[in-house]
Amino acid sequence: MKVAIVSTGEELLTGETVDTNSSWLAAAVWERGAEVRRMVTSGDDLQGVIWAIEQATEHADLVICTGGLGPTEDDRTAEAISAWTGVERVEDAEALRQIEHRYASMGRVMAESNRKQAFLPAQATIFENKWGTAPAFSVEHAGSIVVCLPGVPYEMRELFHHHVLPLLQIDEPPTLVRVRTFGLGESQIQNMLDGLDMGGAVLGFRAHLPEVQIKLHFPFSVKSAERTLVVERVCQRLSKWVYCVDGGDLAETLVGVLSDAGETVALAESCTAGLVSAWIADVPGASAVLEEGAIVYSNESKTRAVGVDPNLVTTHGAVSEPVSRALAEGIRSRSGATWGIGITGIAGPGGGSDTKPVGTVHIAVAGPNGVFHQHAVIPGNRGQVRRRAAGGALALLLRSRPVGPLDG
Ligand code: ATP
Repeated sequence: MKVAIVSTGEELLTGETVDTNSSWLAAAVWERGAEVRRMVTSGDDLQGVIWAIEQATEHADLVICTGGLGPTEDDRTAEAISAWTGVERVEDAEALRQIEHRYASMGRVMAESNRKQAFLPAQATIFENKWGTAPAFSVEHAGSIVVCLPGVPYEMRELFHHHVLPLLQIDEPPTLVRVRTFGLGESQIQNMLDGLDMGGAVLGFRAHLPEVQIKLHFPFSVKSAERTLVVERVCQRLSKWVYCVDGGDLAETLVGVLSDAGETVALAESCTAGLVSAWIADVPGASAVLEEGAIVYSNESKTRAVGVDPNLVTTHGAVSEPVSRALAEGIRSRSGATWGIGITGIAGPGGGSDTKPVGTVHIAVAGPNGVFHQHAVIPGNRGQVRRRAAGGALALLLRSRPVGPLDG
């Protein structure tokens, strides 16, 4: 099946908004084995939107459009579809009901301008949008199916999963397995996997700081047992650098592992200043595992909040192994959590020295079997150092547990 993607919006042409919808859709479509033939972007002008739809339908059986379904004058997608198909727009009673219902569920009264969103080409198939106000829809014309989704990325993704995926007709879909790793760069992983029998899988990488995902794309012909063997071979070769297969990110994996085990974690963060706690809190169900998080940025706060001995800071410096250990142990005993994490480092760009260059990070994890410590000099700018340090803390806790996510 050939697919084209159309994104509309003046803000995309001015560079104000990065077109993440197209890249997300392309990846989602490609992963399921369909071919994306064109990506077309237009502004909000009616002729521009019609032109984009025409371009896209010339090259594809399925066209996915995003944006321009809102209530304002610059939202022209339904109008453009109507002009392109020659089918009048009519007020769709079901679409109107859905918009009214959505507003009522938010305790708000629908503005009269929202009525416009229910004016859709007659005979369009309406998709209920439970995540926003704009009804999505599809039409069939000139041998193509055109699906129109809202521009808001979250709404667009949900609607894609619920309504567009069933339209992707692929006879022999490939299987994609993602092996998620932390601590190695793409080229290191490539070197480590050199010579390994991949059993016909096409190897791809996705670096998404702080992790690198290995994508194993298996053709339809590769049977499930053979896929399992290949994945096992990859995991064995990369051993401790793998933290999960086909699961969530580091924080999601950690929350899953800790909540299954009935364990909790508390954090004392200096250079990451709450980043790790925030990542954990982003995961639904975090309340079962996240006991407490302290931002201990200044030397005084390390003593005041977590009880770090000031002599340790004077003797070894705030960025040191003893201080990271004291942070981890201090927050663990103060909170009563199963695990305590302490992080201290120099995120830069200033503050480095010959002995402790920018990027120096000490991470410690205190748990029932003692304290595990890790030291690294992390490359990158301030944001990269902080994110990699945060990832390092989550990974160190996963590796400190007697049973890791892959040990079954
Ligand atoms: P709604 O009326 O529900 O807001 P809409 O279909 O009218 O949806 P737009 O008004 O085009 O959507 O865009 C809404 C917001 O979604 C924009 O402000 C922008 O932040 C984001 N957005 C739109 N298109 C894209 C895109 N291609 N990639 C990333 N973000 C986008």
